[in-house]
Amino acid sequence: MGSLTLTAVTKSFGATHVIKGVDLEVADGEFCVFVGPSGCGKSTLLRIIAGLEDATSGDVVIDGRRVNDVPPAKREIAMVFQSYALYPHLSVRDNMGLGLKQSGADAATVKERVAAASAMLSLDPLLERRPAELSGGQRQRVAIGRSIVRTPKLFLFDEPLSNLDAALRVATRIEIARLHRELGATMIYVTHDQVEAMTLADRIVVLNAGRVEQVGAPMTLYNDPANMFVAGFIGSPK
Ligand code: ADP
Ligand code: MG
Repeated sequence: MGSLTLTAVTKSFGATHVIKGVDLEVADGEFCVFVGPSGCGKSTLLRIIAGLEDATSGDVVIDGRRVNDVPPAKREIAMVFQSYALYPHLSVRDNMGLGLKQSGADAATVKERVAAASAMLSLDPLLERRPAELSGGQRQRVAIGRSIVRTPKLFLFDEPLSNLDAALRVATRIEIARLHRELGATMIYVTHDQVEAMTLADRIVVLNAGRVEQVGAPMTLYNDPANMFVAGFIGSPK
């Protein structure tokens, strides 16, 4: 349903080569975590998958279909950013339903999907509030809820928990893991946090300066890092 294949993907901004040939296969339903230092290209790669940036070369294939020329709205992807970008003048209910409404869904469908997402994320008591009346963690749950409403095949998360305090980070991380189980959707998740990577990932992709250093299950990378760089990020101290 939501598999992803990247083949020889590159991205340059002018003379700056940011993504330098990435090959990656993410299986349908997999939870795949991208880690790597600031500036290594994690967000750029997510934006290429989402269609918010064009790859300079290479292929992006979602669900067996080459999507390089498919606009973001037609990719059946949900992207959850670290800044929540909710509309301040709209209620939680309307924030959650807006995208679906704009894509042409009828009112009954919008209502039904918002109700389902709201129940799944325990947002029912908050539906009539405005974003300013929510805590940071609640806003992030609304942002996730808004993406679920559209029943995407592929979720892209860009450091979604980095603005939350420690306790909320743990709670929201557990919620994301539960959503992954319940929805069975493919998830690609960028984080700086080793604990998030280790606990959420089926596989971790370690990026460094626009290239993939290693891909593997968390314990594989931890016990058997391919090099010092991976060891520094994930591996056990040897
Ligand atoms: P990460 O998310 O891993 O921190 P990014 O993907 O945001 O890294 O950025 C990778 C590199 O690409 C950085 O050096 C950044 O400055 C550069 N970059 C990102 N977007 C642009 C842009 N629109 N124009 C020029 N350079 C960019
Ligand atoms: Mg980033």
